[in-house]
Amino acid sequence: FDDRDGWIWMDGDFVPWRDAKTHVLTHALHYGSSVFEGERMYDGEIFKLTEHSERLRRSAELLDFELPYSVAEIDAACKATCERMGLRDCYVRPVAYRGPEQVSVSAGKTKVHVAIAVWDWPSYFDPETKAKGIRLEWAKWRRPDPMTAPSAAKAAGLYMICTLSKTAAEKRGYADAMMLDWRGYVAEATGANVFFVRDGVIHTPPIDGILDGITRQTVTAMAEAKGIEVIVRHIRPEELSTFSECFLTGTAVEVTPVSEIGEYRFTPGALTLDLMDSYSRLVRRA
Ligand code: PMP
Repeated sequence: FDDRDGWIWMDGDFVPWRDAKTHVLTHALHYGSSVFEGERMYDGEIFKLTEHSERLRRSAELLDFELPYSVAEIDAACKATCERMGLRDCYVRPVAYRGPEQVSVSAGKTKVHVAIAVWDWPSYFDPETKAKGIRLEWAKWRRPDPMTAPSAAKAAGLYMICTLSKTAAEKRGYADAMMLDWRGYVAEATGANVFFVRDGVIHTPPIDGILDGITRQTVTAMAEAKGIEVIVRHIRPEELSTFSECFLTGTAVEVTPVSEIGEYRFTPGALTLDLMDSYSRLVRRA
C-alpha cells in the first residue's frame, strides 16, 4: 500500500506517497495513542465531512490529546488532499497520533501529528455479494466496558479486537465477525454498526460501548423519515432467531444486507433494500 504514486497530507504539507513515513519510535506504534476517521467522497463531495472531523477531535480528547488543527482546518485539508490526488470518488483516511518525541508510557512530551491519505475504493462488497447478504461469524473477542477502554473513541487501540476478529472470520470464509459487548449483548461488526428488522420495525443496539456511527445516525434518520419505527435497545444473541432481516451500516460498507450470523439466518428484504437504495441516492445527492 505504501508503494504507489500520489500525495499524502502530513502536518500541513503534501508529501510524496512513498515518503510519507514516521519514525519507528513513534509513540502511537508502541502505545496505541492514535485516532482516525474513515470517510467517503461521492461525486466530489465528502459525505458528512464536518461530522467526521468533529468525531476525530472528540476521539483525540478521549485519548487526552488535542488536535493541532481546528475542525475547519481538518475539513479543508481533507478536501485539498482529494483535489491534489485528482479524485472525486474515494475513501478518505485522516489519522492523528502521538509522535516519536518521547518513548514511555507517559506522553506529556510528545507532539500530536496529523496525516490524511485518500485512495480509490469503489465498493467494499461486489453488488452480487451485497444482494445475497454477507455471512458473519461470532467474534471470539468482546467490545470492552467503557470503564475499561475509551470505547466511544475511534481509536487505533480498540481495533486490535476488530483486526483479530475480522482476520479470523475471513480465514474461515466469512465476510466479517459480529462482536458482543462485555455484558454479552449484540454490539457491532468489526467496522460497522448492526440493525435488525422484525414486523417492519427496526431494532439496533444503543451506543454504550460501540462506535456512534455516522452512517448509523444517517440511516436511523432516513428510516424514521419514511415512518419506520427504530427501537434502540439491548439485544441478546438468542433474540436473533426472531428477526427476519439484518443489515450493517458504515462509511465503508454503506448499507449491506446480512444473510447469516453464526447459527442465525436472515433474508435481505424490502425494508433493507429500500434503505440501501435510499442511502446510495442520498450520498450522491441524486
Ligand atoms: N463500528 C466500528 C467499529 C467502525 O469501525 C465503524 C467504521 N467507522 C462503524 C461502526 C461505522 O461508523 P461510520 O458509520 O461512522 O463509518
